[in-house]
Amino acid sequence: MAKNVLICDDAAFMRMMIKDILSKNGYNIVGEAENGAKAVEKFEETKPDLVLMDITMPEMDGIQALKKIRETHPEACIIMCSAMGQQAMVIEAIQSGAKDFIVKPFQPERVLEAVKKVIG
Ligand SMILES: [Mg+2]
Repeated sequence: MAKNVLICDDAAFMRMMIKDILSKNGYNIVGEAENGAKAVEKFEETKPDLVLMDITMPEMDGIQALKKIRETHPEACIIMCSAMGQQAMVIEAIQSGAKDFIVKPFQPERVLEAVKKVIG
């Protein structure tokens, strides 16, 4: 069965790009969120196998959303999407339970590699 993925990024073109890479490779996109608060909401709604979570987002950033989701769902699989120069936040995310991280600009192979490693 196709694995369900939730995509969280405030940039619509980023969500589109990730969606394109993953759906072409057999993953099912169950939802999209443009900020951290929506990400938490959509997670509860869709209970995805994996979340791709941008770090810098309005309202609630990706780190806060990650922490919030893992508070109630410690088994949640979340991969962080960071920009260059966000090492400190990436480390905080990994310490808070993120499974991996990918750095923008994305190479499709790197996105797939991370996703496969985490959910197969
Ligand atoms: Mg962003």
